[in-house]
Amino acid sequence: MSHTDVLKAAGLTEAELKGGSMAVNSPIDGAEVAKVRETAAAEMPKIIARSQEAFRAWRQVPAPRRGELVRLLGEELRSAKAELGAVVTLEAGKITSEGLGEVQEMIDICDFAVGLSRQIYGLTIASERPGHRMMETWHPLGPCAIITAFNFPVAVYAWNAALALVCGDPVIWKPSEKTPLTALATQKIMDRALKRFGDAPEGLCQLVIGGPAIGEALVNSKDVPIVSATGSTRMGGIVGPKVSARWGRPILELGGNNAMIVAPSADLDMAVRAIVFSAVGTAGQRCTSLRRLIAHNSVKDELVAKLTKAYATLPVGDPRAQGTLVGPLIDVAAKDRMQAMLGQAASEGGAVHGGKVVTAGVPGGAYVAPAIVEMPSQTDTVRTETFAPILYVLGYDTLEEAIAIQNDVPQGLSSCIFTLNMREAESFLSAAGSDCGIANVNIGPSGAEIGGAFGGEKETGGGRESGSDAWRGYMRRQTNTINYSDALPLAQGVKFDI
Ligand code: NAD
Repeated sequence: MSHTDVLKAAGLTEAELKGGSMAVNSPIDGAEVAKVRETAAAEMPKIIARSQEAFRAWRQVPAPRRGELVRLLGEELRSAKAELGAVVTLEAGKITSEGLGEVQEMIDICDFAVGLSRQIYGLTIASERPGHRMMETWHPLGPCAIITAFNFPVAVYAWNAALALVCGDPVIWKPSEKTPLTALATQKIMDRALKRFGDAPEGLCQLVIGGPAIGEALVNSKDVPIVSATGSTRMGGIVGPKVSARWGRPILELGGNNAMIVAPSADLDMAVRAIVFSAVGTAGQRCTSLRRLIAHNSVKDELVAKLTKAYATLPVGDPRAQGTLVGPLIDVAAKDRMQAMLGQAASEGGAVHGGKVVTAGVPGGAYVAPAIVEMPSQTDTVRTETFAPILYVLGYDTLEEAIAIQNDVPQGLSSCIFTLNMREAESFLSAAGSDCGIANVNIGPSGAEIGGAFGGEKETGGGRESGSDAWRGYMRRQTNTINYSDALPLAQGVKFDI
C-alpha cells in the first residue's frame, strides 16, 4: 500500500493532507507525506474557552454515562485497529506488530476506564466527634491538556484521554509535531464515538496541531488546570515549573535511562531474549527501552558474546516488511545523535559492537544497526538518554554495587533484575533497591501493561498515568465532614463558646 493509500484508508481527506504548511515526513523513506494545517496561536483562547464550557456540562454527567463514551471509543478503535496501526507505522516507523500493539493499548485502556467509571470512590473516615461522619468525594477538575511525544503517538493520548473523560474532564490534545497524522486519524475515530454517544458537549475532545508554541498556550493558561506532558526531560524542565507557577497540576512523563541487572543465577537465555526485545524494539525509541546492562562479572563475557551473536542476525529495514524487527529512527537528526554518542562513548574507553548506519536494502530514511558498548565505567555519556538503540554494558561484583550503578543516573523510569535468587530479587524491589517507578523481576524494563500505574521518579518527572489509582491525578479530592447531631463540638477539644 502506498503512503497515500494508508492515509486515505484511515479516513484522512485530501484537504487535511494538503491544506497547510507543516510538513510531515515518513521515517520509512524520508518522503514528505503531507502538509497539515497548524492551529494558529490566535485560535487557542477560543479552543480553551470551548473546553471550559464543555467542562461545565460534562462534570454533571454521571461517571458511568461518561464511561459509555469511552466504551464506544474502544469499539470504534477495535474496528479501526488495522488502519490506525498502519498510520503509526507510516508516521512513527514502528514495525507492523508494534503499530498494532499501540492501538491495542488504546483499546485496553478504554476497557479499563469503562470499569473505572463505576469505581470512582473515596474513603469513609472515622470522625473524632460524636454525631459526625467524614468522607472523601472525588470531583472532576477541569480541562486536561495532553501533550504527547512522537514515539507513542496515540497510546499515550489514550492513557490520558480515557481516564480524563470518565473523570469528567474535557481534553485538548497537542500531539508531537512529528506525528500529527496519527492524531488526525484518531480524532476521526473519537468523532465517530462522540456521534454515537449523542449528547456530549461540543468541545469535549479537541485536537490542536503544532509545535512547542501551541503547547505553551496550554501550559500557560489558567483555564487548563491539568497538563499531562510526555516527552524529553528538557521539555518537562520548561513545562513543569510553568504549570506549577500558575498553580496548575502537571503530570510529567519524561525521559528514562533504564537498566537491567543480570545476576550470576540468572537464566541467561531468557535474559538475552528480554534484552534484545527491550534494547532494540521500536529501534530503541521507547521511554522504557533498555539502555544499560549491569551484568555480574562472572557472566558478563558470556552474555555479551550471546548478545553480539543475536544482534548480528537482527533484521533491520522497512518496518512494513514481514520479519523486520528493527525499523528506522524517527529522523536523520536522531541517527546523527546516535553516531555522535557512540563516538563519545568510544573516546571514554567504550568498546563498540555494531551501531553502523544501514543504507543497503532500506527504502531511504535513517536506519541503524543496534549497538552494544562495553564501558569501563558509568560515564556522563551513559547517564544521558540517547533515543536510539545503544546498549551500554557495565560489570559488577556485589548486588549493592549493581543497585548503586542502577540508581546513579538522573532518570528514574524503569528497571529490572534477572535472578533466580529470592534474596536478590526482593532486595532489588525493597526500599533500598531500585529507585525507579517501575521495577521488574525476570522481565525486561519495557512493554508495561495498562493495569499498573505508569511513570517514574527523579528527572522522569514523578507523574503517573494509565492504571491503578492514576485516575486520581485527573480529579480533585474533597474532604467532607457532616454533623448529624444537635451539638457543635470542635475538633481537638477546642472550646469556643459564645
Ligand atoms: P520532545 O520533548 O521533543 O516533545 C514532546 C512534546 O512536547 C511534543 O509534543 C512537543 O511539541 C512538546 N513540547 C516541546 N517543548 C514544549 C514546550 N516548551 N511547551 C509545550 N510543549 C512542548 O520529545 P520527543 O522527542 O517527541 O519524545 C522523546 C522523549 O519522550 C524521550 O525523552 C522519551 O523518553 C520521552 N517519553 C517519555 C515517556 C514516559 O511515559 N515517561 C513516554 C514516551 C516518551
